[in-house]
Order: sequence, then C-alpha cells, then structure tokens
Amino acid sequence: MSRVYNFCSGPAALPEAVLKKAQAELLDWHGAGVSVMEMSHRSTEFMSILASTKARLKRLLEIGDDYEILFVQGGASTMFAQIPANLTSGYDSACYLDTGAWSTKAINEAKKYTNVKVVGSSKSDNYTSVPNFDQLALDESAAYLHLCSNETIGGLEFADLPETDLPIVADLSSTILSRKIDVNKYGVIYAGAQKNVGPAGIVICIIRKDLLARCDDKLPTIWNFANLAKHDSMVNTPPTFAIYLADLVFEWLEEQGGVEAMEAINKKKAQTLYDYIDQSAFYANPIDPAFRSRMNVPFTLADDSLEARFLEESDAAGLRTLAGHRSVGGMRASIYNAMPMEGVEALIDFMKAFEKRYG
Ligand SMILES: *Cc1c(COP(=O)(O)O)cnc(C)c1O
Repeated sequence: MSRVYNFCSGPAALPEAVLKKAQAELLDWHGAGVSVMEMSHRSTEFMSILASTKARLKRLLEIGDDYEILFVQGGASTMFAQIPANLTSGYDSACYLDTGAWSTKAINEAKKYTNVKVVGSSKSDNYTSVPNFDQLALDESAAYLHLCSNETIGGLEFADLPETDLPIVADLSSTILSRKIDVNKYGVIYAGAQKNVGPAGIVICIIRKDLLARCDDKLPTIWNFANLAKHDSMVNTPPTFAIYLADLVFEWLEEQGGVEAMEAINKKKAQTLYDYIDQSAFYANPIDPAFRSRMNVPFTLADDSLEARFLEESDAAGLRTLAGHRSVGGMRASIYNAMPMEGVEALIDFMKAFEKRYG
C-alpha cells in the first residue's frame, strides 16, 4: 500500500492517523460488537459520539453557550437555500458580498427566496481582490450579511469582517478550523465537511440562538434550524459515520495543539508555496497578495500548453489532483489541515524539477 499527497479541493485528504483509527475501530467500535455504520442513531453509543463531536468543536473554536451547533444534511450548496429560507421571514431583503464563484452561487440561490442586495463585488477585477469594506452598500434593515471568507475555486481569502450590526452569515467551508476566528462576530457559520472536517455528507452549522426565532413553521421539517436544534440534529437519521469521522478529526486537531497550532503550520505551508511561485517566472498566481488563500493555491504556467504534461507528470510523482477547477483551468493545490509541510515541500521540489526540464 502506498499513499500519495492528495491536493484535492474536496473531498480532501484526511489525516492518516484518523483513517487508521477508523480502520481499527471499523468492525467493533469500543466493544459494541458493531461498526458505527450499523448502530442506531438513537443508541447510547452513537449519542455519546454525537456529544463528543459537539464538545470538541466547541472547545476548538471556543463557541459560547449562546450558540447552537447543528449538523445539517445536503452539503453547503443546500445551505445556500436553507439560509435564506430560515432567516428571512419578517425581512424584505438580505445583503450579499460577492467575491467569487461560491458567493455567486449563494447569491443566485438566495434570489429564489428574497431580494438580494449585492453590497460589494470584486467581479470587475476578476475576483483577485476583496471590495473595500468602507464602501459597502449595506442596508441595516436587511435580514443578514452573507459572505464567503475563502473562495475555494479562486483561491481568495479574507480574515477581517465588515463593520455592521447585521448578523454575519459566513460560508467557511474551506477555511473552518484552519485559522483562529472569533465566533462571537458571526450570526451563522456554516461549512461543508469534506474540505477541512471529514467526509462529505454533513454541514457544520454554528448559529446564534436568538436567530432561531426566525425559523417559521412553513419550512420543510428537516430544513428548519430551530427544529434541528430542538432535536439535537436528529430530526431524521443523520449521516452517523460522517459525524463519527468528524469527531476523530477533531480529536486529531486537539492532539496537534488546536486551531492556533494548525494556523501556524498553515501559514508556513502557504507562505513557502507562494514565495516559490513569486520568485519563479515560470509559475504565477494572480491574487492580490493581501488576500491569497492559505488553503487553496491556484497557479498557472507561463506556457499553458504544458499544463497537461504538468498534471500527468505530477500525478506519476505521487502528487495527486492538482488540476484547477473545471471552470477556470490551470492548477490548484489545496493544502488543508491534513496536508503536512512535507507534502508542500514535495510539490515545490517537483515544480522546480519541472521548470528545469521545460522552462
Ligand atoms: C465546496 C464548497 C461549497 C459546496 O459544497 P457542497 O457540499 O458540494 O455543496 C460551498 N462553498 C464553499 C466555499 C466550498 O468550498
């Protein structure tokens, strides 16, 4: 058996230690005589896994008691509809910040539910930067302000938040747990699990409890955040195995020293890769250096006719899934928490050798 360095944007690499632990516990979880996959979601065993997953996330992100942690099914794309469906009753509009492909998808879906006010957009500069927060056309009577702090496809990330009294609703699918955040600044944080948390199938949703009062009875029962909160995310059968894997990833994160320790490693990984790209005339990254993503690093070759060869040879060298998103082309290295520094170094070594051969 040999494992490659997997640079996939999602479903993404998981820590090897987590996979080994899941393997060791697969047939008989803690003496239960069954796999987690075969347990009733109402069993005391699974209830203990669910409680542990929530407790670890609460510690890792320092989530206060005024927030509810939900596990929502369907993926972050489903949240693009679930957010306006749950949070706009009693409001005429919602504000959205447009910083790239995922913001745009969220905007288009929200338009089916409410009047969307795009308060700022970096579309005109091809999403290589973030709009100036002082110049946003915020409407303080709107239901919320939605933004995406890390645009997974474009490779654009921002850490600061606009000043506003609106609840900030943030899609953190590809940045959650990679850097420190102050949860208290958000109304809702949501994140599809398959980037930085675990397998596909769940979305982590951290929601300020007062916002649950907006969820009305017209909502589909399993979409209703207040109902999910009331039933501890178990209105129906949740993706039990995905939740268990998330628990193991959170345990691994705690063993690594938590979010702060991961942030230091992530900073170093991203800086090393961007520094290499910047000093080379052969590779390029178009994003404003102030807003470059630490998680997703897109890059192009000066001679784009070499792209297919780059992908073929990197794949053969055990550096997997480096193609950019099908909508933009080029290359993209996703370097989430589970990607060790050695993986980034191996990628740079390959890039150097490739440049030497073909540059
Ligand atoms: C991957 C991703 C999504 C979509 O996730 P799905 O689970 O496939 O619906 C949404 N937003 C961001 C920022 C993403 O990275």
